[in-house]
Amino acid sequence: MTDIIIAIDGPAASGKSTTAARVARVLGYNHLNSGLLYRGITWAAMVEDWPSDETRFNRSLADLSLELERVGSGYRVLVDGVDPGVNLVSPATSARVSEVSARPEVRDRVLSLLRAEGGHGGVVCDGRDIGTVVFPTAELKIFLIASAEERGRRRLLDHGLEVSDEAVSQEAARLAARDAADSSRSASPLREAPDAVRVDTTEMDAGEVVRRIVSLARDRGATVG
Ligand code: C5P
Repeated sequence: MTDIIIAIDGPAASGKSTTAARVARVLGYNHLNSGLLYRGITWAAMVEDWPSDETRFNRSLADLSLELERVGSGYRVLVDGVDPGVNLVSPATSARVSEVSARPEVRDRVLSLLRAEGGHGGVVCDGRDIGTVVFPTAELKIFLIASAEERGRRRLLDHGLEVSDEAVSQEAARLAARDAADSSRSASPLREAPDAVRVDTTEMDAGEVVRRIVSLARDRGATVG
């Protein structure tokens, strides 16, 4: 039995974490959602009102306790011992997370947690730089994309919001702004690894996406269950 590393990267709301969680369950692997760690640090910086000045921000970061706690095949993020729950995915946290995650010290902190937890394999890890920086030797790298409108629509549905044309285009614009910030930063930007398999999910349902990735994982040596 081989426990491989599966890296799933892609733009915001392309279905990475839902897909990664399902693939992990099929394979009996763990699911590491790297975005939650960036969101945890962002939430702490917001509620504790960390200064933006680099030295003082980094001092607050060094004082912060950030842990991953296994729950089933996934994890919850503990920030100073507290699970921030839905605050991690609130619009306020989403609006600030790109700015916080662009800081090299923040990236180093998350990188070491991810490598310590997932480096032995048997893991599906999703994010922006997993195949390029965190696990560059991952046996399977997926780059998940979907049209901006479809991603906006899915995000509204996930949050139980009304799906009108206007709401979809506003949400698509917010996602595009986050993607632009994540792609243009100098510290490990959102980028497709040269050896990634690109999967466009615009016209696919969730089950199809999962089956495709599980089949690719088997080709790379993963055993199911
Ligand atoms: O995946 P999710 O949308 O929850 O990620 C939230 C944010 O965390 C991203 O917009 C990005 O700024 C940051 N992130 C990152 N690198 C990762 C995962 C997430 O910079 N590997």
